[in-house]
Amino acid sequence: MLDRAPHVPTFSARQVLARLLADATVQSAQNHSRRAWVALDMDGTLFDNRPRTLAILHGFAMSHRTALPELLHAVRGLSVDDLHYTPSQAIDALGLPHPGLGEQFSRYWRERFFTNSFQPLDHVEPGAAELAHRLVDAGLGVVYLTGRDRPGMMHGVLQSLDAHGFPLMCPQSQVVLKPDFHHDDVAFKREALAELAKNGPIVGLIDNEPAIVNMALEVLPTTLCVRIQRPHAPNPPRLDPRAVQIPSFRLDGPADA
Ligand SMILES: [Mg+2]
Repeated sequence: MLDRAPHVPTFSARQVLARLLADATVQSAQNHSRRAWVALDMDGTLFDNRPRTLAILHGFAMSHRTALPELLHAVRGLSVDDLHYTPSQAIDALGLPHPGLGEQFSRYWRERFFTNSFQPLDHVEPGAAELAHRLVDAGLGVVYLTGRDRPGMMHGVLQSLDAHGFPLMCPQSQVVLKPDFHHDDVAFKREALAELAKNGPIVGLIDNEPAIVNMALEVLPTTLCVRIQRPHAPNPPRLDPRAVQIPSFRLDGPADA
C-alpha cells in the first residue's frame, strides 16, 4: 500500500496540520485576513476507490459466470489489496489464461466506474474527515478538487462527502469538479488552482498523484504540497523533492506508520 519516495521527507498528518495552520496564520497577516484554503483530492486521497473497482469486477464476473466460471471463482478470492490502479491490472492479478479479458473488463469498468451509482462503495480514508474539520475549525477553507466529472459524477461526489461527514455546503468549503469527462486531470487542476488562488492563499494541497503534486509546486511554489502514499497512475514522474509525503490522515499516527 505504501509507496514511499526516499528523497522526500515523510511527515505525520499531525505535522502537516500544524504546518498548514501556521502557514495560514502567516498568510492571513500578509493578506488582510483573507481566508487560506487547502485543496484536497478525492480518488486515492480522501477515498480508497478500489472497493468500487472490486464491486464492478464482481459484476463483470457474474455476467460471465456461465462462459467463464473460473473467472467468478478467482474474483471471489480477491481483496482490494490485490488491486493496483488500472482495471487491466485487476484482471492480471487473477492470472487467468484469457487474452483480451483485460480489455473487455476495462470497457465494462469504464461504463460504471465514472458514474454516480458506484461511488458510495468507496472507503473513506481514516482521519480524512477529521483533518478537514480541524482545518475548518481553525478558520481555513477546504476545497475538494477532484478529477471526477460534473456531468457524470456530481451527485455521487456530494453524497460521498456528506455520508462520511466532511465539511460541506458551508462558507468554508468548495467542491470543484472537472467540467467534462475527457478533460486531462493535470491540466484541469492546473487551471483550477490558478483560479482558486484568486479567492485566497492556497496554503496546502494533498493528492495521491505525484504528477499533480509536482504541477502544484510549479503553480504554487510556496504551498505545502503533500502526497499521500496511496496507489497512483502508472509511470509517475519522480516526486518533486520540495513535496512532503504522509502515510495516512490519522492525526494520532507517526510519520513512519
Ligand atoms: Mg487522486
